Amino acid sequence: MIRLLDLKKSYGRVKALDGLTLEVGRGELFAFLGPNGAGKTTTIRILNGLSRLVAGQAWVGGLDLQKEPLAVKRLCGLVAQHVNLDGELSVQENLDVHGRLYGLDRRARRERALECLEYVELADRADSLARTLSGGLKRRLMIARALTHGPKLLFLDEPTAGLDPAIRRRIWSLIKKVNQDGTTIFLTTHYIEEAEFLAERVAFVNQGRLVRVGAPRDMMDELGQWAVDRHGEEATVFFSEREAAAAEVRSLEGGAAVRRVNLEDAFLASTGRRVKP
Ligand code: ATP
Repeated sequence: MIRLLDLKKSYGRVKALDGLTLEVGRGELFAFLGPNGAGKTTTIRILNGLSRLVAGQAWVGGLDLQKEPLAVKRLCGLVAQHVNLDGELSVQENLDVHGRLYGLDRRARRERALECLEYVELADRADSLARTLSGGLKRRLMIARALTHGPKLLFLDEPTAGLDPAIRRRIWSLIKKVNQDGTTIFLTTHYIEEAEFLAERVAFVNQGRLVRVGAPRDMMDELGQWAVDRHGEEATVFFSEREAAAAEVRSLEGGAAVRRVNLEDAFLASTGRRVKP
C-alpha cells in the first residue's frame, strides 16, 4: 500500500528524513515508532501532499505520489497530530465540510456523515458544537471525519497523545475496528505500549532513517522474556527464564526488579536511544 524509496527532506541544516526506505502492505496495521524529531510527522505530511517530496520516490496504492497526487489524496485519510476541527461548527457539519472538499454530493455527504458518526459512536452528538466535545470525543470525531470519503489508507499521527489511559484504550479499539474492516493503518506514536498493543509490524525510525522493521513480538523475543533493570544503572539484562532473572536480582546488592521485556527494550537495543523523552 505504501512504498518509500530513499526519501530525504531537510529544514535548513536539520535532516528530517535522511534516506527513508519503507514498505507497508495492504491491510496492515503498521506503526512508525521513534523519539521526538525522528521524522514521523514529516513522512506523513509528504504522503498526504502537505509537504513537497523533494528527494526520493513514494507510491501509495501503486500510484506514484509525484505523478498522481490527487488520486493519492483520495486514497488517504489523515488524522493529524493536533486537533484541527472547526470548533464553531457542529459535529455533523465538520464531516459535511470534509465531504464537500472530497467532492461528495449532498446526499452522499449526509449518508456518509451519519454512517461515520454511528461507526465511532458519536451519532448522539451530531448537533453539538465540536468545541464542546471532550478530548477523547474530539479524536473520535477526527477519525470519523477522515473516514468520510472512504479512504483505503488511514494515517494516524499520534492519535492518543494527551489522552488518559481509559480513553486511549477506547481509541485503540476503534483503530483496530477500522483496520479489521479493511483499511490499512499507518500509525505514528511514541507510546511504546500503543505500538506493542496495536501493530502487526512496527518500524523503528531515528534521525530520519529506518533502523529496523518487524513484528513487535519477534523483536522482543529476540532479547528474551524477562528483563532486570539494575537500579541506578542504565544497563538492562535479559533472560529467557523468569527463575534466572530472579536469581540475578537476588545476586545484586544494589537492588533490582524483574519485569517483562517490552518494545522499548527492542528500540533501545536497535538505536541506542529511548523512545520516551
Ligand atoms: P514528534 O514525535 O515530536 O512529533 P517527529 O518524529 O514527528 O517528532 P518531525 O516533526 O517529522 O518529527 O520532525 C523531524 C525534524 O525536522 C525535527 O528536528 C523537526 O524540528 C524538524 N522540522 C519538522 N518540520 C519543520 C519545519 N517546518 N521547519 C523546520 N524544522 C522542521
